[in-house]
Amino acid sequence: MTQGIEPTQLYDAYVFDMDGTIYLGEDLLPGAERLITELRQREIPVRFLSNNPTKDPGQYAEKLDRLGLPTAVEEIANTVVVMVRWLQANHPGKTVFPIAEEPLVRALREAGIAISEDPAEIDIVIASYDRTFEYRKLQIAFDAIWYHQRAILVTTNPDKYCPFPGGRGEPDAAAIVAAIEACTGATLAKNVGKPDPDMLTAALAGLDVDPRRAMMVGDRLGTDIQMAVNTDMVSTLVLTGDSTRVEAEALPEANQPTFVLERIDHLVPAAQRAELGWTD
Ligand SMILES: [Mg+2]
Repeated sequence: MTQGIEPTQLYDAYVFDMDGTIYLGEDLLPGAERLITELRQREIPVRFLSNNPTKDPGQYAEKLDRLGLPTAVEEIANTVVVMVRWLQANHPGKTVFPIAEEPLVRALREAGIAISEDPAEIDIVIASYDRTFEYRKLQIAFDAIWYHQRAILVTTNPDKYCPFPGGRGEPDAAAIVAAIEACTGATLAKNVGKPDPDMLTAALAGLDVDPRRAMMVGDRLGTDIQMAVNTDMVSTLVLTGDSTRVEAEALPEANQPTFVLERIDHLVPAAQRAELGWTD
């Protein structure tokens, strides 16, 4: 980590986390709008990534539009898309039980993946960020994994909680994985979300860009930055969401972000910011 040092060059593509990086709640974070606008003006590709499976890419595009950043669905990848692709590539023909909200369930159905609530025929239990989680769903997962000894446990994302404005948050997928692991003794077979490199592959799909010339930008060390570390990609931690500078400095050097920035628009080097007349 080059502490206190900002990037001195622009990269060939940027992959941005959204929550805590581009926006928090219903507000864009300072500098996000002019940064994205400037990168697009320079024809530098930007992609947006989220571990959150409670919305699909269309809903994220609508949100970015609403906040003043018109974005094509193709520029967005999240765990709804990546989970469907992972199942199709690795477990074709299997029957799944999604502990999930409507966007993931709908995407699985549209992809023709078999869904069941009968523990005797479930091959894969998908634990995710599900605000309709209940005892009934836990029992189905328990029966499929423990009683019938047939299902494996996978998850959309490893996040413990989803950050909200004002320091609040909501329990995320890790809480549901933990509940199922606690009663079944099973261990998670796969996470498709960040820091798994599958997410980055999905983000950069269709771009003719060397990942080593692209930059990953996010607010969480364990997911956003660790994914960049896992794929040898340059990374920036922005201090507008979850992780702190102290936490970054406490990591082994190999796991630290390349840059740590207070403001996301400092991804544009200082000389170019001065030319553009940008002040903080
Ligand atoms: Mg985030």
